[in-house]
Amino acid sequence: MSLLVTGSIGIDTVETPFGKRDDVIGGSAIYFAYAASFFGPVRLVGVVGEDCPIPLLRALEGREIDTQGLEIRKGSRTFRWHGSYVEDMNSAVTVEVDLNVLAERAAKIPQNFLDSKYVFLANTHPKLQQATLEELRGPKLIVADTMNLWITTQRDELGKLLKKIHGLVLNDGEARLLTEKDNLIEAARQVMKMGPKFVVIKKGEHGSMLVSERDTFVLPAFPAERVVDPTGAGDSFAGGMMGYLATQGSFSPSTVKRAMAFGTVVASFTIADFSLDGLKAATREAIDERWHQFKTAMIF
Ligand code: AMP
Repeated sequence: MSLLVTGSIGIDTVETPFGKRDDVIGGSAIYFAYAASFFGPVRLVGVVGEDCPIPLLRALEGREIDTQGLEIRKGSRTFRWHGSYVEDMNSAVTVEVDLNVLAERAAKIPQNFLDSKYVFLANTHPKLQQATLEELRGPKLIVADTMNLWITTQRDELGKLLKKIHGLVLNDGEARLLTEKDNLIEAARQVMKMGPKFVVIKKGEHGSMLVSERDTFVLPAFPAERVVDPTGAGDSFAGGMMGYLATQGSFSPSTVKRAMAFGTVVASFTIADFSLDGLKAATREAIDERWHQFKTAMIF
């Protein structure tokens, strides 16, 4: 089943206790697309400016990622993010962010992407997320992500987006910020009142939680001994989850739970190295093997 993602494509500078990387490929749509491509083909929609070094974009070469929807916009500058995990590996401090193209208009969607059935609106300006969604013809499953910046500065636009999606994926801090509820189950239920039918809350090293009308389901994180760079963990989680779901064609509670376990495992590869290097070292076989290990560890 066709899976489309839109979101940020950026140049990141990242600092963690393990070192610093300048000007590496990043962005929510990049991590998502790479992660989802372990399961099946992905259609990528996003914009960079003409300053984006082409070798950075080569990171996607050889993957099942259709980049027809990747616009290189003349006269614009690429989104840039500088984040630090030096104080706390569980939450990024934004040292600097330059929205650049993200403050402009959405990328044009290729005609042959318009029939996409599974859609992930990865973290970006909620106006761009809505603009992309409006173009699509009859998606079956629409899931979005967001972050504190948009919750605080674009609450109205985010509110409009929430009415149009089936699921929202966000982290614990963002869920509390959005709803002013401390208890995460209460927060998830509050989000559901804003539109989505289900909410997935990511809790970093403490795993993730799914809340829907009929289910509350929690999963631990995959026990990782060496976390080098958590950047992109959330997007990779979503990529693994949606990538698997798109191969199944069903959203039964057990399918969604298995999908979350795939998301967890894919994220565990991302955090083992800087930028996309952790994911680049993964294979579908290694993901499946870790998934079975994770499943076995859940039985008691
Ligand atoms: P994650 O660690 O999964 O939450 O996502 C990390 C990625 O999000 C980085 O590669 C950043 O480029 C990107 N990012 C950071 N801030 C923003 C923002 N305001 N809008 C869109 N993407 C962002």
